[in-house]
Amino acid sequence: MRTYSLAIHGGAGTIRKAEMTPDLEQAYQIGLETALLAGHTILEKQGTALDAVEAAVRVLEDNPLFNAGRGSVYATNGRHEMEASIMCGQQLDAGAVAMIQRVRHPISLARTVLKASPHVLLVGAGAETFAREHGLRFEAANWFDDPKRWAQLQEARQAQRVQLDHAARKMGTVGAVALDLHGNLAAATSTGGMTNKMSGRIGDSPLIGSGTYANNATCAVSCTGIGEFMIRGVSAYDVSCLMAYRGLDLAAACHEVIQVKQTDLGGEGGLIAVDAKGEVALVFNSEGMYRAWIQQGYSPEVWIYA
Ligand code: ASP
Repeated sequence: MRTYSLAIHGGAGTIRKAEMTPDLEQAYQIGLETALLAGHTILEKQGTALDAVEAAVRVLEDNPLFNAGRGSVYATNGRHEMEASIMCGQQLDAGAVAMIQRVRHPISLARTVLKASPHVLLVGAGAETFAREHGLRFEAANWFDDPKRWAQLQEARQAQRVQLDHAARKMGTVGAVALDLHGNLAAATSTGGMTNKMSGRIGDSPLIGSGTYANNATCAVSCTGIGEFMIRGVSAYDVSCLMAYRGLDLAAACHEVIQVKQTDLGGEGGLIAVDAKGEVALVFNSEGMYRAWIQQGYSPEVWIYA
């Protein structure tokens, strides 16, 4: 029997209830619910997993609470250098962008790369020219400005550290994974990266196999956490490999990649994944991860803490 599932994340890290106000907690919950609904509506109407993950991520990119699109953190040069990727599990089609500025929805630019270019990854000025040619929406630089993020950059500069979003160890990257009623899987990830990162630094999020991966034969995965460790672990693809080559189920594969391998490597973060049967896994080795999911016939779930 055909079924659908959708999971989203808004980043992982040191997310403590004691440090959260009820209003802020509610704002995060509403932000996640709204994004989940955008994707869910598409899946319910027999739309594609690719459309659903793009729609969910676009909503998160417009929400300044999350480190992607509008809410992107600042690089050390005081600018936003955004990145995103998207992958469809049917044909292994993929598109990605990095080092882009002022594009309102980096995930839609990644989707356009998938659809309308012969390439997988475009960066910088070339990616922005491609965006203009394809009518993507740009915003003024101040659309992305946020006094809290600016303060984070000043703190990080002073401490001479490259830091994950929010608190010292909190990541705010966003992502979505879905299975649709046609049996196709898709994954999408979008981020501003890490506060005070060197200009030109690229993380796991736009790298197919590291931060994002989808294959109908196994699963769809979106990661969040310290990108350097996810790149070294080739984490998203590793979940798929453990299922394909070692025959692990989704939950066991995700556990191995995050709780065992990332932890051994010294990485911190998590991932969301869905498999071809519609099973969902949301795994992290940090204190919390903003996350929500829905499976056909069940109510939506929205969680923040462990
Ligand atoms: N993975 C992202 C990066 O390293 C950060 C995050 O997940 O918040 O750029």
